[in-house]
Amino acid sequence: MNMAVNGVTTEIVCAFCDGKGKDPFNLLSEKSTCHVCGGKGMVEARKPFMKCAYCKGAGKYKSYSCNVCKGKGVVPELEGDTKTCPECAGAGDDISSGMECMTCRGRGIVLAT
Ligand SMILES: [Zn+2]
Ligand SMILES: [Zn+2]
Ligand SMILES: [Zn+2]
Repeated sequence: MNMAVNGVTTEIVCAFCDGKGKDPFNLLSEKSTCHVCGGKGMVEARKPFMKCAYCKGAGKYKSYSCNVCKGKGVVPELEGDTKTCPECAGAGDDISSGMECMTCRGRGIVLAT
């Protein structure tokens, strides 16, 4: 019997709107709904997950939802042994471009193998 917990989803507070269900930047209108959680204030995340290095778990990058975690603030954990990304030193971003690090895809870690 497969007892692995991988693939189990859990609900976490939406990082982008801080659980308020409203767009934190009021881009469309004052009542604009958070597009990350659809206004629920909660999002589903698949276990195991880790904090998004690119946005530091905030779910946002400048005034947009984070491209790496899609605004959730967490990303799926890598399976296996990991090490700090040698390209961005764990920051998750590419200093020269300001975009997410292509080596670790914004996670800040890569597989050690
Ligand atoms: Zn939200
Ligand atoms: Zn992020
Ligand atoms: Zn990196």
